[in-house]
Amino acid sequence: MAVRYYDWIIHHGRRTPDKVAVIDLASERRFTYSQLDGRVSRLASFLRHSLNVARGDRVAVLALNTTDTLEVQFACGRLGAIFVPLNTRLTVPELQFITGDCAPKVMIHDTDLAETALSVARLCNIPTSLLLGPGGSYEAGIAAAKPLARAEEVTLDDVSTIMYTSGTTGHPKGATITHGMTFWNCVNLGGPACIGPSSVLLTVLPLFHTGGLNCYTNPVLHAGGTVMIMRVFDPGIALGLINDPAQGINVFFGVPAIYQFMAQHPAFATTDLSRLIVGGVGGAPMPVPLLKVWEARGVALQQGYGMTETSPAVLVLDREDAARKAGSAGKPVLHTEVRIVRPDGSDAEIGELGELWVKGPNITPGYWNRPEANKTSFTDGWLHTGDATRVDEEGFYYIVDRWKDMYISGGENVYPAEVENVLHQLNAIAEAAVIGVPDAQWGEVGLAIVAVKPGQKLTEADVFAHCTANLARFKCPRQIRFVDALPRNATGKIHKPTLRKEFSVASEV
Ligand code: ATP
Ligand code: MG
Repeated sequence: MAVRYYDWIIHHGRRTPDKVAVIDLASERRFTYSQLDGRVSRLASFLRHSLNVARGDRVAVLALNTTDTLEVQFACGRLGAIFVPLNTRLTVPELQFITGDCAPKVMIHDTDLAETALSVARLCNIPTSLLLGPGGSYEAGIAAAKPLARAEEVTLDDVSTIMYTSGTTGHPKGATITHGMTFWNCVNLGGPACIGPSSVLLTVLPLFHTGGLNCYTNPVLHAGGTVMIMRVFDPGIALGLINDPAQGINVFFGVPAIYQFMAQHPAFATTDLSRLIVGGVGGAPMPVPLLKVWEARGVALQQGYGMTETSPAVLVLDREDAARKAGSAGKPVLHTEVRIVRPDGSDAEIGELGELWVKGPNITPGYWNRPEANKTSFTDGWLHTGDATRVDEEGFYYIVDRWKDMYISGGENVYPAEVENVLHQLNAIAEAAVIGVPDAQWGEVGLAIVAVKPGQKLTEADVFAHCTANLARFKCPRQIRFVDALPRNATGKIHKPTLRKEFSVASEV
């Protein structure tokens, strides 16, 4: 069987040619499935015949969210080439690290990022750059090209994408994503996320992150639904779009920070959220108090767990269980197996904390150019996630935190996510993070870094009192710092290495 999963655009182009496939909110362009199919075919032909992009060649994109990025993904799929979406928030040296690693043949970029893209292209000897937007070489190339006569034969095991991880714990690693992985993620998510042809998705997360691309942009296009792409997330505009019946948005996905910014927006209280069938959340620990804020507005957010390396869905909480099991990331998706493993490699008992291991057709075969990581990250095909996890007697999984973020205070393990959850119960807190810092007496103690909502008051004593009332003594942070905002990486995750750098030194004094 010839399996080009990107064939789904050809399929929908024939079956529902006039249905709107993608809407680019910033440029107000919208393309039907038939138009999208035509553009992808001509783009593929342009890349192949004018720019000599062949099977296995890498094509990088550095752009704020645009439907063009999706076209590049699909065009690469038809050529057997490898799509590399780049993180737009990285600096030139950080991008140079990535493009030095994967050596793209073409760099496609927008006007906003032209200077960065061209510097990186020059430093890494990328031979060709294409500019997106009106009058740019990308549009000119598509306009001049004939449709691609014949797509490459690819198999489910061929690499379609190199997606770099979020870089939350160190240098981003290039996870190789095969055609099959993305396909199986569509299958795995379809049911629990209720994705179908009538899905209308608002995508606000960056498309260079697996959350933006695969939750649920690709699954909705696979199912023949409609995807709206927001160039840069804005909570007020997102709420306005969701509120508007003419848009018909019924599917949404965000990392916790996205839901937090929306909940803190003045329009939140009056936005009509009743059309949202799916509100997915994942990518970082989700504070239960924030789930409750959305529940009070009638939205049962469905927490899920995944990684770039698992493309990404591994666990998803069904809508019916969302309120009863708030805080759980749900159960394994259909075609993915999980284990919770002790340090000695044996399986943990129900309720016992261990490392989550994952296996299935949505798991990466390995990292690009990382033989060492490839050796240490897998055991018999099981990917070690690095996430501390437990399962309850009903089979619901709870992601506790990353092992790397755990600290040991007086011989007891402390998982910052648990402490952060308690901090979020304080209504005045806008953002909170906890890190372990060196301490002469206890080895390490917790340092809470807190941003207070504008116009609200919170003292150190309030925070200490709340923690003491709700947490065992060894879990209570011993130090508190107030800041205006927490550092976040491009996907909205709190960047703990920055906090550690900033605060660990100060606390040792
Ligand atoms: P890097 O691997 O480069 O350090 P990263 O791990 O943040 O960055 P991603 O692949 O974007 O890169 O994120 C996957 C990680 O996100 C998981 O390993 C886990 O730590 C965290 N995560 C995902 N979903 C959840 C969730 N529901 N609850 C808690 N943590 C989650
Ligand atoms: Mg990771």
